[in-house]
Amino acid sequence: MRAPALPLLCMVAALAAVALPATAAGPAAVAKADRRLWTETLNSRNGFDKASRASILTYATALQDMQKMADADMLAAFKIKSLNRASVDKWLKSELALSLANYQRAARDCAGGGDWTCVAPLGNVEALLRQADSWQKSIPAGQQAWHANLSAFAHAYLAEQLRLAALFPKVSSEIDRFGPHEWNGDTLEDRQFLLTFDDGPSPGPNTDDTLAMLAAAKKTGVFFVLGENLQNRVNKAGAAKVAASYKNQCMASHGWQHQSHAKWDQWQDSITRTHALLNTTFGKGDVLPYFRPPYGQRPADSAPFFQQQGLQVALWNLDSQDWSSQVTADDVSNRMIALMLIKRHGVLLFHDVHNKAKSALPVIFDELGTAVSWRDCQQALPR
Ligand SMILES: [Zn+2]
Repeated sequence: MRAPALPLLCMVAALAAVALPATAAGPAAVAKADRRLWTETLNSRNGFDKASRASILTYATALQDMQKMADADMLAAFKIKSLNRASVDKWLKSELALSLANYQRAARDCAGGGDWTCVAPLGNVEALLRQADSWQKSIPAGQQAWHANLSAFAHAYLAEQLRLAALFPKVSSEIDRFGPHEWNGDTLEDRQFLLTFDDGPSPGPNTDDTLAMLAAAKKTGVFFVLGENLQNRVNKAGAAKVAASYKNQCMASHGWQHQSHAKWDQWQDSITRTHALLNTTFGKGDVLPYFRPPYGQRPADSAPFFQQQGLQVALWNLDSQDWSSQVTADDVSNRMIALMLIKRHGVLLFHDVHNKAKSALPVIFDELGTAVSWRDCQQALPR
C-alpha cells in the first residue's frame, strides 16, 4: 500500500507558525527524526548503505513535493516577504543531482535483488523520482513507522533549506557559494565527514568539555573561534595555556564579534584582527586559513579581500541546530545521523559554547562506527 501523502502545505505552514527571534538566522522549527525506528545497525558499510538507500529514496520524494510548491505557498510557509525562485530552483536541482549520485554510491552492492531498499539502476534524476515514488509500495509493514518519521523529517528539513535558498543572495547563508574561494563540504569523499565547532571559547566549561570528549574519542575538528571570546580566555589564562587546551585540534576564525559580516562596516577589520590574535596565540601549523561568517552572512563581492588575505570562506552543509532551545542532545544525534545517511559526506556544524555536542557526538561515533570516516582537521579541504 502506498504511504498516504503528507499534508505538506499544512505541515510547512505549521512549521512557520512559530515566531522567529529577531536576531536568529535559523529556521522557525527544527527538523527532528527518531533513529530508533530504524531497527538494523548502521555501524558497517552494508548497514549504513542500506539505511542510506531507504533514506535517500524518502528524501527524493520530499524534494519532489517541494518542487511542486508555488511561490505564494513558499512565501506563506517560510514567513518571508520576497522569494528568489531561481535560487530555489537551482538548489533543488543540485540537491536532486546529489541525491542521484548518492543513491548510486549507496547501491553498489545491490546486485542480486531481494533487498527492499534496492531499486532498478538509476540513470538520471527522472528515474530517481519515478522509482522513489513507486518504491513506497515495497516498504515492509515493520518499516512504515520509520518511513513516516523520516518523511516528516525530510519535509521539515527541506523547509529550513528552501527558506535559505529563497532569501539568497539578499540574505547570504551556507546555502550557496559566491565563488571558488568558498567551500561547504560538498567536495568531501563518499562517507567522509569533517567536524567543526563555532562561537567558542566558552566562558564556562562547555569548550573544555567538548575538547575532552574529542580527545577521548581520538577525533579532531576545526574550532571557529570568536576573536573577543578568545581574547577573554587569553587575558584570564595566558596564551600558552589556551593553546595547550586545544592540543591536536585546528583553529580558525569566526570573526571578532558574532554579527553578520554582510553589512557591518568593520567586517574586514573583524577578520584581520581575529587572525592576528590566532597567530599570536597558537602555533603556526594549528591555525587554518579559514573564516566562517556568523550566520553564513558575508558580502557577495568579498572574493578580492579573501584572496588578498590568503583566506577561504568556510561554510558547512550539515547543520546540527544544536544552539536552538528547541532541541535536546538526543535530537541532535538523531538529526545528524538522518542527515549523514541522506547526504553521505560533508562538514558538520556544532557549537562548543553549548553543551549538546559533547553528548550528541559520542552517540554518533558509536552508532556509525567504521561505516564513515572522520577527516583529520589538518587535512585541507579539496575544492
Ligand atoms: Zn556562530
